[in-house]
Amino acid sequence: FARLGCAFHTRQPAAPLPAPYLVGFSFDAAELVGLDPAIAREPGFGEFFCGNTTPEWPRNALPYASVYSGHQFGVWAGQLGDGRALSLGELEHAGQRYELQLKGSGRTPYSRMGDGRAVLRSSIREFLCSEAMHHLGIPTTRALCVVGSDQPVRREEIETAAVVTRVAPSFVRFGHFEHFFANDRTDELRALADHVIERFYAHCREADDPYLALLDEVVGRTAELVAQWQAVGFCHGVMNTDNMSILGVTIDYGPFGFLDAFDASHICNHSDTQGRYAYRMQPQIAYWNCFCLAQALLPLIGLRYDEAVRAERAVADAQGVLEHFKPRFAPALERRLRDKLGLAHAEPGDDALVDRLLELMHQSRADFTLTFRRLALLSKHDASGDSAVRDMFIDRDAFDGWAAQYRARLANEAWDDAARREAMNRVNPKYVLRNHLAETAILRAKEKDFSEVERLAAVLRRPFDEQPEYEQYAALPPEWASSLEVSCSS
Ligand code: AMP
Ligand code: MG
Ligand code: MG
Repeated sequence: FARLGCAFHTRQPAAPLPAPYLVGFSFDAAELVGLDPAIAREPGFGEFFCGNTTPEWPRNALPYASVYSGHQFGVWAGQLGDGRALSLGELEHAGQRYELQLKGSGRTPYSRMGDGRAVLRSSIREFLCSEAMHHLGIPTTRALCVVGSDQPVRREEIETAAVVTRVAPSFVRFGHFEHFFANDRTDELRALADHVIERFYAHCREADDPYLALLDEVVGRTAELVAQWQAVGFCHGVMNTDNMSILGVTIDYGPFGFLDAFDASHICNHSDTQGRYAYRMQPQIAYWNCFCLAQALLPLIGLRYDEAVRAERAVADAQGVLEHFKPRFAPALERRLRDKLGLAHAEPGDDALVDRLLELMHQSRADFTLTFRRLALLSKHDASGDSAVRDMFIDRDAFDGWAAQYRARLANEAWDDAARREAMNRVNPKYVLRNHLAETAILRAKEKDFSEVERLAAVLRRPFDEQPEYEQYAALPPEWASSLEVSCSS
């Protein structure tokens, strides 16, 4: 990406942070990129991963901030860009290349009114959630570490600065393409598309229309990704087109949230007053974002047609590819929901069974994670194992009615209770990063005690395993959690 040239990025050092200290470190992410975890104990570690040591680097190896644009909350926002992120460069390990990026490393030419910083609170949330999502099996950018400093940062109140180091094969967003499209820079648009194809979608080169094939791939991956979000109750919170990865991985953790009490219309981002990014809206919004990407790619599509018909054909082709979203998304979600219910094969009526369960959960505001986890305790033979999940519902009779249907359906499955239970426990996590868990770790970290960040990260490394010593991390949110608000302020 750095070699694409100066239309794509600006090179600069990070702004120094005084007396950095290590807040969190992911051994898994270190292993991924081939870093010896022992480096975390070296004195220069914090200095390096907040960007303090980069100014000594040669000019042509300085970190860089990239430029992109995007649609924010459905409205064209014009130029955005890495306003507080700097890419350090690329590491190769085990045949894979990874970009390392600092987030919160100071102002860049794309900072607009921002200070270029990230606060400790949001950096810990991004660090924990990136790694938690990975361990849930959901494609995501990774997080190597969080480094903090006592430097004050002004948000609603005075907080302190931190830098999170993110890792991904690429940080290219839909918004990068929109940027060059909006500015009529077709050469740069093509160079970017060629870079992404060469690096990540090489087989598209063989297609009749490589750029249309690229769009098709991204549409498919995005649909699959959102199906995974829905299945685990993850709400992204800010699905602006500049927060959509061209690799179909989860990116830009801000005011995200995992569903606690199930409300299909749940809005996790306090700044999202219209509910544009509510839980149930995510698939539609992902599609809408793909539409924006398709539009941005139009100048590259249909080049094999005669000039007189090219524009019209390109639109028709792009529209055709966008129609692939739903047939990718719907079966992907249906399969995951079946898995969550322990249904090994599909039968007519399964959709209705799932829908009815979700309806009852919604009515009772049943906890999303716990309800699915406890469903595994039901027996296919009798109601002896019902009580734990039945307790999640206010209308017990309605639940009993559903349980009878479910049992009847389970009778058609070959596996016994034990085998089904084991399969269900591999897809229904016991531990997710609930807001109150993150909040507890953050409050402790603000007092310079980082042990809760480490403990929580360790629990979330094994989200599907029973961890009896950490039962409280799987419990319903405490009363005080209902007053927690997360917003775009980060
Ligand atoms: P987000 O809503 O977090 O995706 O951010 C949207 C845009 O604002 C991106 O271009 C960010 O880089 C930029 N941005 C967010 N916070 C800051 C900040 N504190 N300083 C500079 N730029 C920021
Ligand atoms: Mg962003
Ligand atoms: Mg952000």
